[in-house]
Amino acid sequence: MPSIIVHGGAGQWANADEAAVLAGVEQAARAGWEVLRAGGTATDAVIAATVVLEDHPLFDAGYGSFVNAEGEVEMDALLCDGANFNFGAVAGVRRIANAIQLARIVLEKTPHCFFVGDGADALAAAHGLEIIPNINLVTPKEYALFHERWAAGHTAPRTGLGTGTVGAVALDAQQRIVSATSTGGTPDKPKGRVGDCPIYGSGGYADDHLGGTSATGQGENIMRTFLCKNAVDHMQTAAAQAAIRQAVETLAARIPNPEAGLIGVDAQGRLGAYHSTAAMPIAWVTAEGTLSSAMRYTGQFG
Ligand code: ASP
Repeated sequence: MPSIIVHGGAGQWANADEAAVLAGVEQAARAGWEVLRAGGTATDAVIAATVVLEDHPLFDAGYGSFVNAEGEVEMDALLCDGANFNFGAVAGVRRIANAIQLARIVLEKTPHCFFVGDGADALAAAHGLEIIPNINLVTPKEYALFHERWAAGHTAPRTGLGTGTVGAVALDAQQRIVSATSTGGTPDKPKGRVGDCPIYGSGGYADDHLGGTSATGQGENIMRTFLCKNAVDHMQTAAAQAAIRQAVETLAARIPNPEAGLIGVDAQGRLGAYHSTAAMPIAWVTAEGTLSSAMRYTGQFG
């Protein structure tokens, strides 16, 4: 009973071209579903879905990432394998198009779990990922915004949460659950700042016996409560939707305005999504093969 759900980031999404955003998450979910339908693994499915969103200029991951305060893209990603509690994480990556592919290399090709900065980019090169100039990750819109701020004194960072961190969680026909999350982080973040995304149990988590999750939102709040692990723990007694909602509400009860969003799949293939922000674009394909999408959670999953 394979299924997949993807998100394109929790936030305001004010003035967004919602049709284009939804087309993007749908394209990603479809790419992941094609892998599952052909009998592929949950890992291949979430990577296929995440790469679509990393390559898409409307989402804050890969090409389209927000730049940091110095005008550079620094990306983080996490891949969690529910079969064996293994994970691959990267942070502060600057020279590749798809940070999630590097997270996979960390998981599958090294005895380690987490690489950062120049060492992570060097690992990418050593494993044949194309090394690109950082500027190639900056969209014309983001480039213009940075230079406007710079000309104006480059004082305050943009306010509000960035929109567009991406993630995917899939259950495959062999009952494997894998979660992928990838981000350019928050807009104008100080150089070196890392959010929840690559932190195991915070930005993502997967356990084949229970379920998997991928988070988005204000990383400093999410990582304080291990949001993704918390939600999967709730799946011991609750279906994905109730478990995910409970985890986000617990966070909101302790941290005002946490600006968090979460998606997931439980071991029975039931889907869940919830966010404390105005919006969080999601797309999903159920075991019957039906593709759906929404800009915000409105009770789709119970
Ligand atoms: N969670 C990401 C971070 O804090 C940002 C986001 O999801 O928008 O880096």
